[in-house]
Amino acid sequence: MADSSRSFTQMISGKRWRIVFVDPQELPDNHLGDCDIISRRIRIALGMSEQETKETLLHEIAHAAVWDLDEEAIVRVANAQARALTKANFFNQALLHGGKSGDSKKLSTGRGGTLG
Ligand SMILES: [Zn+2]
Repeated sequence: MADSSRSFTQMISGKRWRIVFVDPQELPDNHLGDCDIISRRIRIALGMSEQETKETLLHEIAHAAVWDLDEEAIVRVANAQARALTKANFFNQALLHGGKSGDSKKLSTGRGGTLG
């Protein structure tokens, strides 16, 4: 039974899924998340960095949305989306708080190397 404080529901490809944050030891070895198509439940390990959490969440949502896509394709798509979300958020925050467009350009190049 899912603890509602650690979960939320999300429509994916027309079906309602539950996304649950769980203790890492509840997941199979070497898994940061998993996706059960039968019960329409995604589990994500608690305690990861924001970037790992984004990548894992997007990864499992991609499995749920396109269940027959192979693992390598899922990894490529989800990791690119996670990096773009992080950069877009950083860029947007810079625009909100930085004022001039020149500032945001300088900030985005400053972070580009570490985010890949
Ligand atoms: Zn996978």
